[in-house]
Amino acid sequence: MAMRLRTPKELRVSGMTPLTTIDFPDHLACVLYTQGCPLRCRYCHNPQLIPFGDQLASLSWLEIEEFLHRRQGLLEAVVFSGGEPTLQPALAAAMAVVRELGFKVGLHTAGVSPERLAQLLPLADWVGLDVKAPFHRYPQVTGRNHQAQQNRNSLALLLASDVRFECRTTVDWRLFTPDELHDLARQLAELGVQRYAVQINQARNCLDPELEQTVTLSTEQLRVLKQKLAALFPVFDWRE
Ligand code: SF4
Repeated sequence: MAMRLRTPKELRVSGMTPLTTIDFPDHLACVLYTQGCPLRCRYCHNPQLIPFGDQLASLSWLEIEEFLHRRQGLLEAVVFSGGEPTLQPALAAAMAVVRELGFKVGLHTAGVSPERLAQLLPLADWVGLDVKAPFHRYPQVTGRNHQAQQNRNSLALLLASDVRFECRTTVDWRLFTPDELHDLARQLAELGVQRYAVQINQARNCLDPELEQTVTLSTEQLRVLKQKLAALFPVFDWRE
């Protein structure tokens, strides 16, 4: 039986940032937030994007395409974020249309499905890969088993591709320690990751309300940690 071709109209999108300078390095971009995610990260600050379901998507592809036509020559890139965009069957079709319209394509993913990522990489110009936690902490942070290996397999695909990418880790010091973060960063550097970013949990609107109180390290601990991490990568960013 022939496989049914997907159309971008089937993409489930629940929100958009019309202009950003930080979601695709060195590019003016907009971000589309897709609906549905298989993970349950305790610090997730977009828990409304977690459930899957057509009825939850509030932005039609027609509206998105009209917006993109108006932004041709003004925006340089479109970033698909989530939720978890790679699980959307219509994502490849949407990425192809975005490219036809003259934009570069960015993709934010937690690397939950290396198989899907492999299909999508030829259509991506830049990828932001979330590495959620040190390997042994993955279930505790994401609420899901077996995701650490999926993530490592996704990273291996990116390392073997010629698509530019960044790894990033959101940090809440209740979930793992500075030493564990340093070990994780060292592993990523040894694997060949060139760009790494640490993002501090904003402690707002968290899936787990227990994480809504900010926990910080001392100024000296932070200084030492940032210095150690920055020494591991050609490009390192600390985002608060
Ligand atoms: S933070 Fe985690 S649970 Fe929330 S959308 Fe991202 S990957 Fe999914």
